[in-house]
Amino acid sequence: MRYLPIVGAAGLVVLLGVSAASADPIDDRASDLLPWVARKTGYSADHVKVTVLFVAPQTINLIAYRFTKDGDPQPEAITAGATVFLPTWFELGKNDDILVHELTHVLQSANDSKFRCRAEQEKQAYEVQSAFVDETGIGKKPDAFALFMLRCTAYAVQY
Ligand SMILES: [Zn+2]
Repeated sequence: MRYLPIVGAAGLVVLLGVSAASADPIDDRASDLLPWVARKTGYSADHVKVTVLFVAPQTINLIAYRFTKDGDPQPEAITAGATVFLPTWFELGKNDDILVHELTHVLQSANDSKFRCRAEQEKQAYEVQSAFVDETGIGKKPDAFALFMLRCTAYAVQY
């Protein structure tokens, strides 16, 4: 799961031939959860229009590989601007925590939030995800040690 500070998601959609989940329950869920994430983070969700696409996990890996140059573990989902790419195995009511995590990245982007390093940016998304699991019992809480390691100083190279 990672945030891509890039534009051009529409181009990706064309290139990869993924299908939009239009008028889908996932869009309704994203619309419902966005204000929740906004409340948790203090970000504004005004005028934010989220697009959710289901793509094969390999495609998510491909997007991650294409846009990141580090050796991070492969993400389960990925976000580019206001476009969330969820894996095809995503199940509503079971994996909603992943959607919440990615929606945090959407609002980070929409609010032009600044972080000292990407680890801090990820940490916020995991914290919101964790709060969602606490509140709803849906999904899986992020590993505490992994969360602890999401600090700028845990990385030799900061950006
Ligand atoms: Zn992330």
